[in-house]
Amino acid sequence: MPDIRPTVGSGALVLNATYEPLCVVSVRRAAILVLSAKAVCVADGEGILHSARNALPVPSVVRLTRFVRVPYRTHVGLSRRAIFARDGWRCAYCRGPAETIDHVFPRSRGGRHAWENVVAACARCNHTKGDKTPAELGWRLHSPPSAPKGIAWRVLGHRAPDPRWVDWLDLRESEAA
Ligand SMILES: [Zn+2]
Repeated sequence: MPDIRPTVGSGALVLNATYEPLCVVSVRRAAILVLSAKAVCVADGEGILHSARNALPVPSVVRLTRFVRVPYRTHVGLSRRAIFARDGWRCAYCRGPAETIDHVFPRSRGGRHAWENVVAACARCNHTKGDKTPAELGWRLHSPPSAPKGIAWRVLGHRAPDPRWVDWLDLRESEAA
């Protein structure tokens, strides 16, 4: 999970009754869950939310009071942002800042548009590479591309995690994966 830039008040992490991370919702939605006793707040964010009758701390992590059974997405959608996030916004060939998406085995030669064949690349490497393969240029990939795995990806996708969510998402584990 390369994207650890802190975000301010963008959302709240929802945990199942079993403390398993489920999804990210707006802070407003999380507050409604808490006010309607469908969830309890387990970690506060910054600030106070005011409604007509209530004031409560901005929720950062909430836990549902009743267990819900959720069918999981088993794979992460292949999007430009998700590819950049997986590769840490670094070029797969020179490690410089990435601006483009490259198909390792070129599409023009039948390369697939799939996690295993796409990498973030800088414009210069992408241009130089053209419709050649890394082997033909004597280039080496920093690491073989693969579909992102782990609970953090399932819950967050390309979203930057709030630092307060780290304990619940086991980000350190998924970094090593
Ligand atoms: Zn490059």
